[in-house]
Amino acid sequence: MIELNDVRKVYGDSTEAVSQVSFEVEQGETATLVGPSGCGKTTMLTMINRLTELTDGEIIIDGTPISEHDKIELRRNIGYVIQEIGLFDHMTVGENIGLVPDLRGWDEQRKQDRIDELLELIQLPAGAKDRYPEALSGGQQQRVGVARALAAEPDIMLMDEPFGALDPITREELQDEFVEIQAGLDVTIVFVTHDINEALKMGDKVAVLNKGELVQYDSPRDLLANP
Ligand code: ADP
Ligand code: ADP
Repeated sequence: MIELNDVRKVYGDSTEAVSQVSFEVEQGETATLVGPSGCGKTTMLTMINRLTELTDGEIIIDGTPISEHDKIELRRNIGYVIQEIGLFDHMTVGENIGLVPDLRGWDEQRKQDRIDELLELIQLPAGAKDRYPEALSGGQQQRVGVARALAAEPDIMLMDEPFGALDPITREELQDEFVEIQAGLDVTIVFVTHDINEALKMGDKVAVLNKGELVQYDSPRDLLANP
C-alpha cells in the first residue's frame, strides 16, 4: 500500500508544484493521477521512487516512510514506465525484457521463462522475442516497455503517460489490453495521464489534480456520480 500524507513539493523558493496532498492506494489497486499540464502529476510520481525529494509531509510504502527505505531497494521494487520508450535498439526484445533479471543475477532458465510469460501477457506475436525494437510498431514497443518494467516482479509500477505518444487507435487498444493485464497482476499502480477518459478507464481510484491540489479522490463510479 502507498500512503501520501500532506505531501508538499516546492521547487526553488516559490514554485509550489504539490500542496498538502493526501491519499492512499491499496495493494493491487490502480490509482490514476489526472489534471492539466503543470498540475504536479510527474512530481508526485517521482516523489514515490525518490527521484524528487519531498519538501513536507511523508510517503509511506507498506508501513514504512520512504525516507527509511534503502533507496536502491526501494527502486528495485518499483517498475517505472515513461512516455519516451527507451528500449535499447541494439538489444532484442527478449534482451530488453531480460535486462533487469540479468542485473539481478537470475539464472538463464528463470529469466527465459519470465520473458516468455511476459510476451504472452503483452500479446506479442511469436518470434518477436528475437526481433529488434525498430522492427516493431510503436504500440508493440510500448508493450515491451511495460513488460520490461514488470520483468523483475515489482510490487509497484509508476507509469507516466505511458501511451501518450501513440496514435488514438493504438492508444485505445493498449488501454483495453492493460486493463486486462492489470487485473491479473498483484501490482500497485500509479498511472499519470492528462486524459480524463483514460483516467476513468484505467483507475480503480482517480485523483483529480489542479495546480498542485487534490480536488477529488474517488472511484470512477463515484466521480461520475458527484462531478
Ligand atoms: P505535470 O506532470 O502535471 O505536468 P509537473 O509535476 O511536471 O506537472 O510540474 C508541476 C510544476 O512544477 C510546474 O509548474 C513545473 O514547471 C514545476 N517543475 C517541475 N519540475 C521542476 C523542476 N525540476 N524544477 C523546477 N520546477 C519544476
Ligand atoms: P538497479 O535496479 O540495477 O539496482 P539502481 O536502482 O541502482 O539500479 O538505479 C540506477 C539508476 O537508474 C538510478 O539512479 C535511477 O536514475 C534509475 N532508476 C532505476 N530504477 C528506477 C525507478 N524505479 N524509477 C526511476 N529511476 C530509476
